[in-house]
Amino acid sequence: MNPQLKNLIELQAIDSQISELEHGKAAIPKQIESGKAGVKEQKNQLMEAESSLAQLQKERKGLEVDVIAENDHAAKTKVKLSSVKTNKEYSAILVEVDAVKQKILVLEDRELELMEILEEKEKELIPLKASCKEEEESFNVYKLKKEAEAERTEKELEVIRPRRSQAANNLEVKLLEHYTKIFKARDGVVVVPIQENICQGCLQQILPQQVIDVKCGEIIIYCEQCARILYWKETKEDAVPK
Ligand SMILES: [Zn+2]
Repeated sequence: MNPQLKNLIELQAIDSQISELEHGKAAIPKQIESGKAGVKEQKNQLMEAESSLAQLQKERKGLEVDVIAENDHAAKTKVKLSSVKTNKEYSAILVEVDAVKQKILVLEDRELELMEILEEKEKELIPLKASCKEEEESFNVYKLKKEAEAERTEKELEVIRPRRSQAANNLEVKLLEHYTKIFKARDGVVVVPIQENICQGCLQQILPQQVIDVKCGEIIIYCEQCARILYWKETKEDAVPK
């Protein structure tokens, strides 16, 4: 095989590896962010539940205070009974006491209702708290794992990048220029095999004479459609002895 073609295949292999590693590494911060968003959502849910619980507890406390005040009101009103002079006054006080008692009943009903709701809400909070904690813990593990992955990838890149420079230096200047140009234009895919006479870069048919030349591997052959550099890749079928 033409040594320059061999170098080109190697450079492409290294570049593909680099771009795969870089893509993987670039995705990590977003993956961590999205994990963090999941935890935050759970926390918000818990906070909302806790705040609605606190609101109900406050309402219940308020009712307790109101009941005490109304009981006090009733007691004071009854005290007035001893000093009334007329039947009319007496009846008026009784009506007032009745009204207060009625009010207390309504308050106590609401209090009972609230207590039931509170009990229910407190029960609901338990699994919510547990899943929040679980989510946070598993996110922390995930984050550490992803950070280690980023570090590992960077180390791999540190090893590969000098190999990339070496492979590029091995190429003739003109070939490297063409490689670089197509690399930019064709999304990093420059050196491609042909399979069943098809360029694996643009999936167009290659002329029969070119296929022969590519198979031979002695000269650099460019795809006429996409200008990528073509090479012959032995398949299992080719390798079977006749
Ligand atoms: Zn092509």
